[in-house]
Parts: sequence; structure tokens; C-alpha cells
Amino acid sequence: MDPTRPEKGDLLAGPDWSRLIRVTGPEAALEVIAAAFDDPESLDLVLRSPEQESGEAARHCGRAAIVESGGRCRDARVGGRPVWTLSVRRAGGTPPAAAEVELAAAALAAWRSARGEIGRGEQRLRARARELDMLQDLGRCAAAARTWDALFLEAATVLQEGTGADLVVAAHALAGEAEARVFLARPAADAVIEALAARAAATAELPPELPLRVAVERLPGFEESHARRRADSGRPEAAFAPLERRGRTVAALGLLPSEPSGERMFRMFFGAANQVSLHLERILTVLEAEQDRFRSILDSMPQAVILADRSLRVVQANRSASALLGRLVPAAGEGRLARVGDLDLAPLAAEVFERGLSPSEQEARVEGGTVLAVTVSALAGKGGRPEALVLVLADVTERRRLQAQLAQAEKMSSLGEMISGIAHELNNPLSSVLGYSQLARGSASDPKLAARLEVVHREARRCQRIVQNLLSFARRYEPERKLLSVNEVAESVIALTAYQFRVSDVRIEEDLGRDVPTIVGDPHQLQQAVLNLMSNAHQAIRSAGRGGIITVRTRQARPGWVSLEVEDDGPGIPESVRPRIFEPFFTTKAPGQGTGLGLSLVEGAVEAHRGRISLESEEGRGTRFRIELPVGTEESSVRERPGVEEPHEADVPARILVVDDEDSVAQLICETLADEGHRTEPVRDGRDALDLLRREEFDLVVADLRMPGMGGASLCEEMERMKPGVSSRILLTTGDTVSREPEAFARRKGIDVLMKPFDLDDLRRAVRSRLRARRES
Ligand code: ADP
Repeated sequence: MDPTRPEKGDLLAGPDWSRLIRVTGPEAALEVIAAAFDDPESLDLVLRSPEQESGEAARHCGRAAIVESGGRCRDARVGGRPVWTLSVRRAGGTPPAAAEVELAAAALAAWRSARGEIGRGEQRLRARARELDMLQDLGRCAAAARTWDALFLEAATVLQEGTGADLVVAAHALAGEAEARVFLARPAADAVIEALAARAAATAELPPELPLRVAVERLPGFEESHARRRADSGRPEAAFAPLERRGRTVAALGLLPSEPSGERMFRMFFGAANQVSLHLERILTVLEAEQDRFRSILDSMPQAVILADRSLRVVQANRSASALLGRLVPAAGEGRLARVGDLDLAPLAAEVFERGLSPSEQEARVEGGTVLAVTVSALAGKGGRPEALVLVLADVTERRRLQAQLAQAEKMSSLGEMISGIAHELNNPLSSVLGYSQLARGSASDPKLAARLEVVHREARRCQRIVQNLLSFARRYEPERKLLSVNEVAESVIALTAYQFRVSDVRIEEDLGRDVPTIVGDPHQLQQAVLNLMSNAHQAIRSAGRGGIITVRTRQARPGWVSLEVEDDGPGIPESVRPRIFEPFFTTKAPGQGTGLGLSLVEGAVEAHRGRISLESEEGRGTRFRIELPVGTEESSVRERPGVEEPHEADVPARILVVDDEDSVAQLICETLADEGHRTEPVRDGRDALDLLRREEFDLVVADLRMPGMGGASLCEEMERMKPGVSSRILLTTGDTVSREPEAFARRKGIDVLMKPFDLDDLRRAVRSRLRARRES
């Protein structure tokens, strides 16, 4: 080394070069360098780059004149590429000192190298800023994405714009189906697409057995031209990054650059993949929370909600459904819900999948009597095509039971009204037949005629009983507590059913015990119970397609208890059915034949009487229902009819007004009472009666309650108004055995009511009792 030539560092040590670092152009640099010399005004620095050999590219000119005068110049080469030439001159021809030239060249070289560093740093910074911009863009767009589909599209768009990639791919199986979405910025060969989709699927660790669905989409700004590659560029390398969630790979992102890329591109890609991972995590967490909420809504529903695939295999079920599925899906059914009770689901599923129809609500009966309302609808997949079935099953057993009960109640009420109308119409003519046959029989001298009239009277009595029984069936009574005989209850039902049963070849055997104690209860409710047992027995025998026998048996069962049995020789009740027969609405009969209410009413009636009911049945041999009721300890004065004739006092002839719109009935009453020695006067309605009563005195008025114009009740009120206390002179008759109104009215007024059709003895007795009451008052 030449000791006269100072080291570069030493050269630069003296002056303050901080200004030099800040200047950006060579001219400004030369100026700063010149300023570091003595007499900078006379110093002339010229800098040439190789391209500018011919001209002076940058110069510092102290005095232009000196340059032009051409003083001696020394050149220095300034290193680096390209090599610059620096010429240094001094004004006045003085050659510059070698040290001066060295110093200027060193300063210039230092400046160049510093500038180069700064430039590269700036370039790096700009690139970094671009990366950051892209990631920020991605962050913004990804944050707006609500679904993973939207997230992948946003990521692909931003990545492509940021890297100029040809293709971006996202693979996942988040919806249960393996999918690779390929986003194209320009056309790509199918083989390339397939290969990249497969590599993305492998990076996403998708189960290889899942068929991969490849969906190709064009990105915004898709260019029809293929990638422009530089001739010297090799095959670009694709990059793949797994997207992880809680340490598990759930998807993958891939990118195919348009040309071989450096570290910067890969850094951008992996940065972006990282961001996408975070947003995917957010989306999945939100979705999970939503699903949890939706799931708890579904679980809180009383309806069973089931998701089933095309082949009716259960995919998902809410809590109510899980409880039900155990009963609905047989163990051998491989999780297939082929039917719900008696409802075949296959045709409904076909309707949904093949014809796109949602069938209307169906009803299914499940073992155990449960009724389910079933709706089947489609769960639309991508493109709106039905992908699965949604079954909603609601337990409507109780609703149907109430509906049936209501229908039954309505049926019973209209039946009751009809029966009451018919009975009312029958009662008047029946009163005449009964009464006249009785009268005629009494006066018939020919024994043959008397015998025939006896038959007429007996049969009319039978009709009377039938009408009464019909009425007691139709009438809905408040539970009563009367002293009554189970034998009478049994007889009344037998009278009602005997004929009907006989014509269908079913005979009734009466085995009514003697001295069966009375009980306290409601005769109508008990009649209804026995009627139900006998109807069931009859239906059971008939179901065997043959005739048979029903035995009705009453006994004093054990001390303090009375029993009533209804036994049939029908097919018996299968053991499996026995535990359920008392359940309301349980029936084994065909629709329209049974309501399933009969035995539950029987049980209710027996319980209301603090009794018990038991059953013996043998398949193929028959059935016996046994009702046990406690013996009545309560005395009741309310007897249906006094059984014993009151002591017959000598009749005092009386004047009696008979008011009835039915001529034959009025006539019959008049004749009967005339035979008793009374004087009678018939009129047809309340007004005529009032007219007569104003003019004449009567000991007794026998009036029908229901008449066109003024009926018995109004007549009674008017008479009270005319003469208070006169109601003791009235005896009311009525054929209206259904409504409780006549009885209530009469009870309020303390008046006797004689129910039509009446026996003449009842009429005589009632008249006698009224007349006696009047005399005693
Ligand atoms: P319903 O007669 O309307 O079906 P019930 O409550 O009266 O309703 O009877 C319930 C079921 O009990 C019947 O459907 C029938 O299967 C059975 N059952 C009742 N009585 C008999 C009987 N005497 N013999 C055979 N089965 C009977």
C-alpha cells in the first residue's frame, strides 16, 4: 500500500458528510462534496456514467469559464456498477491534488453506496407495505364474510390481486361433503385444476374415501389469455397451506403463481392463509353457537323433529324425537324410519323428492293408542333441490280424544233431542192406548174380549217402558242419590234391549236374585252402565258370526254388597287387550262401530257409586263383567212411583176441569174421572180454561204443561193471580220427560206432576191425593 495515499476511511474522516447522505441526485452530491474542499469555487467536478461517456451527465461547476478554458484534469473511477468516471479540475489550470481527487471519489462512492442501500431499503419497504396492504384488505373483506363460502371467495380475490396468481384453490369438508373450490384468474387446463384440487384436498387432510367435488369459478377480472410467462422463467411452484382450527386441520388454501416466485410471494400467501384460518375459526365458532341455539330451540319443542336422508335413514333428531325413535325404529331397521305406526313414509318421501310436493299433514297411529300428526317437507340443498327430509311429528292423541269426545257429546245431545221429540210425540197416543185399553177391559163383559184388551194393555205398557228407557238413556241427569233396586235397573235395560238382541239371535237370560238389598245411587247412570255392558256383550257375540246368550245376574254378594253381572258366551277378550279396555277411547272395533267410551263410562259410574268392577274372560269361552255396589244405608223418600196403593177413601164427587190439547187424552181423563163419580169439563188450552174459571168454580184443574197458546205453567201463574193459594187445586200432566223444567216448576210451586203416559190408577191416585190435600187445607 502506498503510504502517501491515505485510507478511504481516513480520507472521509474530516469533513461533515451528513448532508451528503441526505441528498438524492449526483449533482447535489457533487455540490456537497465540492463544499468540503478548499476554495470550492475554483473546483470543477464532472461525473460520467458509461452511457453518458460522450456528454457530461452531472457536474459541479465552480466557475463555468474555467471549465471551458480547459485546465488540467484528473479522473477517478467511482466503483460499483456501473462504474462512473469523476473528473476533477481546478480553475486556472492548476491540476488538482491527487488527494483531492481521491477524496472526492471516495465521498462520491460512499454516497453512491449509501444511496443504493437506502434505495433497496425503500424498495423493500414498499414491497412490505404492499404485502401489508394486501393482508389488511384481506382482513377487511374476510371480516365481512359470514360463511366459509364467502370467506374463500374473498381470500381468493384478494390473494390473486396481491400476488397476480393464476389460480387459487380452497378445499374443505365443512358441510360433510369433500369440496375443492378452484378460483381462476385466467384459463387453466383441466388436468392442472384436478391436480391442484387433489393436492389442496390432501393438505386439508380430507378423508380420501370421500368423493371430492371440484367446483370451478372465475374470479372478477378473469382474463381470457393464458399466463404471460417470461421466456426464461421455469415452471411456477404451487403453494399450499393448511387452515387449522384448535390444532386440527379443517381446510386448505392453495395458490398457483403465474411465474416462479420468490420468498416474498410465499410470505404473502402464508400470511394470507394465516388470516383466513383466523376468520374461518371465527365463522365456525359463530356457526356452532348458532347451531347450539337452534339445537336448544329444537330440543325445547314438544314436537319430534327428524332429519332423514333420501332412503329415510335418520340423520339427526331433536330430543323429543330421540325419545320417540326408540319406539318407531325397529332394531333391525338399520336406523331407517320406513313407517310411523300405520303410516308408510316411503310414498311421502317419493312425493317430496320426485315431484317436489310437500304432502299435507298425515295422521299415524302408533302402538299404545298414540296418534301422531306427521308433516313431511324437503330440506333444500344447493340449487334448491331437495336434499333431505324434515319430518315433524306431533302427539295429537289428547287433541283427537277431546275432538272425539266433543263429537260424541254432540252426537249424544242431538240423539237425546231426537229421542225426546219422538218420546214426546209417542207419549200422548200411548196415554190413550193405555188408558182406553184399561177402561175397555174393565167394562168388557166378554172374557175373550177382556183377554184381548189385556194383551193390548200389556203391550202398551211395554211400549211405555221402552219409551221411558229411551228417555232415561237420552237424558243427561245430574247424579242423583236415590234408594233403588239393582233388579229394577237390570230389568229396565233388559226391556230396552231384549227385542233388538233377540232378532239378532242373542238371548237374554235373567237371573235376578230375590231379596237383593236396595242401594243408593243414580238409576239413570247405572242403567247406562248396564246398557253399555250388554251392548258390548251383544257386539262380541255377533262378532263371532253366531247367536249366543247374555246372562244378567244380580245377587247379594257378601254382607253389605250387591252384585250385578253381565256374562256372555262370546269370543272373550284377548289377554293382551284386557289391561287397556277401560281406557277412554280404547277400542278394537272398526271405525263407526265403537268409540272406546263404553267401558270407561261404566267404570266412571261404578266409581261414582263407590263400587268396584272386575272382569273374567277366557278366549273362545266368553266374558263376565261383575259390578259390586255397596248396599244403600240412606233412606230416600224419592221413589219413582209409589209401589203400594194408598188407603182408598170414599170418593167425594168433585168438579174437575181437564185442560189438554190432545182430545183423546182429555177425553180419557174425563171418562176415567167420571167413572170415579166426578163431574168433568174438557177444554183445549189455558185461555179457555181461564175463561171458564172466571165464571165457574172447580175443585181441581188437571192441565197439560205443554200446549199451544197458554200452557199449564202460565195457566197456573194466572190462576194464582186470580186467587192466591189456588195452586193446591192443580194437577199437572206432561209428556216432556226430557227437560227438567216441568219438574222444577212444579217443585217450586209445590204442585204434583203426572208423567205421560200414565196408568189410569196413577191418575186416579194423583187426583184423589190432590182432592184430599185441598179438603185438608
Ligand atoms: P267400544 O265398545 O266402543 O269399543 P268399550 O270401552 O265399551 O268401547 O270397549 C272397549 C273394548 O273392550 C272393545 O273394543 C272390545 O275390544 C273390548 N270388549 C268390551 N266388552 C267385551 C266383551 N264382552 N267381549 C269381548 N270384548 C269386549
